[in-house]
Amino acid sequence: MRLPWQEEEARGGSTLDLLVYRSRLLGADPRVVNWRGGNTSAKAEEIDHMGRRIKVLWVKGSGSDLRTASPGDFVGLRLDEVRVLEERESLSDEEMVDYLLRCMIHPNQPRPSIETLLHAFLPFPHIDHTHPDAVLAFCTAARGEELVREAFGERVVWIPYTRPGFSLAKAVATAVRSAPGAQAAFLAKHGLVTWGDDARMCYENTIGIIEEAERWIAGRRRGRIILGSPWIRAVPPARRRELFVKILPVVRGAVGQKQRMVLHVDDSEEVLAFVGSSEAKRLSQTGSACPDHLIHTKHLPLFVDFDPAQETADHLISKIRAGCESYAQAYMRYIESHKRPGDPVGDPYPRILLIPGLGMVATGRDKFLAMQAAALYRRAIAVMEGASLLDTFTSLTAGEAYEIEYWPLELYKLTLAPPERELSRRVAVVTGAAGGIGRAIAERLAREGAHVVLLDIDIPGAKEVEEELVGRYGEGRALAIPCDVTEEGAVREAFARAILTYGGVDILVSNAGLAYAAPLEETPLEQWRKVHDVLVTGYFLVSREAVRIMKVQGLGGSIVFVVSKNALVASKQASAYNAAKAAELHLARTIAEEGGPFGIRVNAVCPDAVIQGSKIWTSQWREERAKAYGIRPEEIEEYYRQRTTLKVNVFPQDVAEAVLFFASDRSSKTTGGVLTVDGGVPAAYVR
Ligand code: ZN
Repeated sequence: MRLPWQEEEARGGSTLDLLVYRSRLLGADPRVVNWRGGNTSAKAEEIDHMGRRIKVLWVKGSGSDLRTASPGDFVGLRLDEVRVLEERESLSDEEMVDYLLRCMIHPNQPRPSIETLLHAFLPFPHIDHTHPDAVLAFCTAARGEELVREAFGERVVWIPYTRPGFSLAKAVATAVRSAPGAQAAFLAKHGLVTWGDDARMCYENTIGIIEEAERWIAGRRRGRIILGSPWIRAVPPARRRELFVKILPVVRGAVGQKQRMVLHVDDSEEVLAFVGSSEAKRLSQTGSACPDHLIHTKHLPLFVDFDPAQETADHLISKIRAGCESYAQAYMRYIESHKRPGDPVGDPYPRILLIPGLGMVATGRDKFLAMQAAALYRRAIAVMEGASLLDTFTSLTAGEAYEIEYWPLELYKLTLAPPERELSRRVAVVTGAAGGIGRAIAERLAREGAHVVLLDIDIPGAKEVEEELVGRYGEGRALAIPCDVTEEGAVREAFARAILTYGGVDILVSNAGLAYAAPLEETPLEQWRKVHDVLVTGYFLVSREAVRIMKVQGLGGSIVFVVSKNALVASKQASAYNAAKAAELHLARTIAEEGGPFGIRVNAVCPDAVIQGSKIWTSQWREERAKAYGIRPEEIEEYYRQRTTLKVNVFPQDVAEAVLFFASDRSSKTTGGVLTVDGGVPAAYVR
């Protein structure tokens, strides 16, 4: 959404406040500002630590997002000290960064943006640098410079492509100085620089130029089919879903050969129109439109030549596998021909897959980054479409793309980032996730970086866990799905949703439980069956689904059963529970036998005496037992605690810790194992 400047909101703010306000307005429209892209600045007089009046350049720090900008995202630099740099002939990136760090007015500010010098060298008090779709269409058109002249006359300065940094800043400053009437600079294959005398004028100039570019492109649209005739029609939604459920684990396996990825599907109308057009293959294989897209989408997407009217899901699957492999080979050749000594070798697999009739699949280290990659590729589609309306779309060359992708400064930034968590890039399904133990497990796995799919019949409870985990660990990190694990259809649907959201499954923690205790002769058949339904059939159904997906992915997997000490030691008055838990344990061992050759490990955790927060004790059972023992239902837990021969306290977190051990690579050499969590009192060891 494009927002108007509201004078009431801006009035009375400091230079920095107005800069924050302007940045947020710009960031509100993805057609203007990409996620974490663009930077803004303002020049002001401030009082320094010695009480002197000094000129300060406020500029966005590296890594923050304009949409959510706050004063802490900006860095103040001593302007006079920065401006001196313009006199230099050349300046390496390392020297530039080092120099700028010494110009900061406060020691604890974010690192200044790599495009800081662009803001410092231009004389204007307020400057915006953005990468808007419509401007990029001009910047990537083969006759871009001519078209800009035609559309904007002398009001816009054209700057040939140079990698961001000192040279680009100097080139822009020199060109703008010799064009006194100019309102903006268009940077070829990069973006837009605009300015103004005050914050509002700057904002309105930025939006004004973008809207002019948009109108110019729209004028060319009338009566013309943009990207050739629609070639392949979108597959109907229900069939599309079915195909995605089949192919996403294949994609995840194919792109995850070097490192696992999380997937995101985009089958919006605009994406379907693009992938189905006769020009999609040629345009998408031209290359990336601007450095900002490239970091998250790579220079090229993989275009999977699929014709849903003629070919089956199996054809598509083999095309995806072969496509990813030839993509990786081509990527290695790209590295070979551009690499400098000491450069690392990146992941050779695609970040974006385009499939006619189906849409786009984007990949990322986590769900959020996969979503951002998809969002950036949608920007690329808009740019390709705009440039094609104006003229012929051109892109960065492979060499220019490599320079950005393996920019030493970007690589250095990566080394500053915290190391990935143990379960980063993984997807874990936890059943019974709303109960005490399930919650603790979901929390523990999410804390280690996993994306957690929360299955439960208690829908509000599972939703609550989802909200808590998303709030703590970020967007896309948890998903609650209603599921009765005893229903074959519900289990299949839950795993289908996990696939559609993340692309597949790496970890299954089968934890859903149900307890029943009564002497043998008082145990009704109905209760016996119920307990076996949840603890045996339920465990069978979820593992069968998980194993099927894990085998298609070909990335191994880990299954953990939350069993019970009752599987090992029979207790009185729990025939149904004991028998079902023993069956569960033997099921785990069977799956371990079958999964071994595929790298699928299956292990069991056997807790004892965990009562706190457990939901397996149903209210009906509580009432019945309480009546039988002559106590109140709320006393039942204490009653059982008293009765356990060895009084120990085992908490859900203790069980979660054991589950983490088996779920993670810490136990990569162990399958068919049993780990007791009995409070350290030898009551439940394997006999
Ligand atoms: Zn830029």
